[in-house]
Parts: sequence; C-alpha cells; structure tokens
Amino acid sequence: MDPQTVFCHNPACPARGQIGKGNIGVHSQKERRYICHECNTTFSEGKGTVFYRLRTNRDVVVIVITLLAHGCPIQAIVSAFGLDERTVVNWQGRSGAHCQQVHEHLVERPRDLGQVQGDEIRVKIQGGLVWMAMAVQVSTRLWLGGVLSTCRDTGLITALMQHVRACALCRPLLFCMDGCQAYIQAIRSVFREPIHTGKAGSPRLRPWDGILMAQVVKRYAGKRVIAIQRRLVQGTMDQVQALLQRTQGGGTINTAYIERLNATFRSCIAALVRRGRALARQTTTLHGSMYLVGSVYNFCTYHRSLRVAIPLPGNRRHWVPRTPAIAAGITDHRWTVEELLSFRVPLPRWTPPKRRGRPSKVTKALVAQWCS
Ligand SMILES: [Zn+2]
Repeated sequence: MDPQTVFCHNPACPARGQIGKGNIGVHSQKERRYICHECNTTFSEGKGTVFYRLRTNRDVVVIVITLLAHGCPIQAIVSAFGLDERTVVNWQGRSGAHCQQVHEHLVERPRDLGQVQGDEIRVKIQGGLVWMAMAVQVSTRLWLGGVLSTCRDTGLITALMQHVRACALCRPLLFCMDGCQAYIQAIRSVFREPIHTGKAGSPRLRPWDGILMAQVVKRYAGKRVIAIQRRLVQGTMDQVQALLQRTQGGGTINTAYIERLNATFRSCIAALVRRGRALARQTTTLHGSMYLVGSVYNFCTYHRSLRVAIPLPGNRRHWVPRTPAIAAGITDHRWTVEELLSFRVPLPRWTPPKRRGRPSKVTKALVAQWCS
C-alpha cells in the first residue's frame, strides 16, 4: 500500500482528488484501508476502481473483462467460469462506466487533431435498431468517442461532434465523412467560439478558422461499390492536401481509417457481429461495451501501423510498437487491462461552498492550502 499514489474520495473534503500532498495515511494494513487526515474519513484500496466492493478474486474479474472486451459472448463466460449471468452483466456495466470516466479524463483533452474521420454503424438490438456514431484521429488512430441514438439525425452527429470538440485545439482540422448531410450542420454549429464584448445578451458565435470538410460518397450496385465520389464541402484543395500529407503521408480523401476501426468494434462487441444471435437488449449495455472496447483499443492494444523504427548499426532497425494512446502522447507504455480498470480518475479540485458575507479565517486557510 502506497499512500503517495492515492487521493481522498470524499467530495466534501478540501483535499479531494489531490495526490502526494501528504494527507493520506494507511489506516489498516489488514483491511487494506487508507485514511485522509484532512477530513478523517477512511476508504478502501479499491475505491474509484472497477474492483471496489467486488468479492470475486481480482484476477478472475480482469480475465472476464478482458474476454468481454475482445468479443467473447457472456454465455461462454458464464459456462466457462461458473459465474452467474447477472454478475457478468454487472461487471460489464461497471467496466463500461469506468472506461468512460477514464476516456473523458485522459482522451478528451485539447490536442492538435489534424484529420478526423467519422462514421456510423447500424446496429440491430432486440426489438429495433440503433445507430452508433464514432470518430477517430487519423495520425494516431486514437478513438475519440462514440454516441448512440435510435435515429441517424443531426442530434446524433452533434453529440458526436461535441466529443470531438472536447479533444480538439483550434488548429487546422480536416473532417472526412460519408455523404450524411447532418455532419455539415453539426460541425458548423459545434465548432464555434463566443466573442465576449461585455454587452448584455448572449454573445455572438464565431466559427473556428481552418475547419475543412470533405465527403466520400460511395455508390453501390447490390453489395459492390461501383463508384466513389469525393466532394470538398469547406476549404480549398491545397489546404486539404497539406493536412493529408501531415496526417496520413499524402494520398486522397478517404474514410478508410474509421471503416477499419468499425471493423474492430464489430469483431469485439458480440452484439455488433452481423447476423449474430447475441443481440443487445438495451442501448445502455451497448454504450458500456463501446467504451470498454474503445478504451482497451486506445490504451492496451499495440497498433501495427503505429510502430516506429529505431536505426541500429549495420543498416538494421529495431521496431518499437505503440498503442494509439502512446502515439497521442497520453501515456508512455502499453497499459494492461488491470491497469485500465484500476486507474483512479481524480475528483475535480475542491471549491469552498458559497456563503453570504466574507469568508472565515478557516475557509481562507483551506483555500490557501488546497485551491492554489
Ligand atoms: Zn479527505
């Protein structure tokens, strides 16, 4: 047990979410509990992780969730491990919610995205259909997030674009997508910045500079593609070429990267397998599975095309494999699934509760100690 690596989980504690400030001590080695000396509350070692209050051996939980993240049907796990189906469903839900938190904390940070590709998958669920829209950063193959909706409309695409915006810096950015018209409106409405003038009323919104949009429209005859049309919706061809050169080393406008990622998701979520019989019953199950698979893909899987060569003497090369998260500079090593499931997302900094009048000496001291 290392008190330097954990933080206080009490939402009312001024020291919440802060690591290495010396406020945490070991409360009990036997029960594996820590104590926060600031608010005098104790918490267990597993707090903030998927393993919190689970009675099953940690190794079994890790194996089961790893299998789930690679598309193993729940029924197979139930019969192989002798677990109750509800237990496995519960772990799946927990890990999905946990991975979403990790994703929002680590991936949804502003970065220079360069080129983003978006696409939607049509998913059959019990008693209906849902659409799963996802986006990927081309240069690092980083999965930027996904959303689910019963119809493929502007609402779905706008929600997806809000995830992309959370990951984006205001730099030249190329969007490549299919012919779905909702993208154009969604991108224009999401990528805007308010201009504060100090006047009353809501501020005017100014669109970001350097947003480029391109569509790839495929025409089918039966199941075969007979023609591909590439349209430039916003920006000039020179700008697009410059970004394509930087993010994928030249080539043409395409949606190949997101289509490849869709294939990964299809093979890793049992409910997404075409003509499969393991249909999801609820959208929430699918949402959790999507975040689990996406996070395992981002943090725990080496991507062959992301490897970098280190030259060795004698014209030889040493290949260093990388995950999308390493390529994006989020981490420096490949995470194990256990590492992902036990990553504790820190609480936001404490802010003193709003009170009338001047703050007391005690509040001032707490603010000086914990909020600076
Ligand atoms: Zn505390």
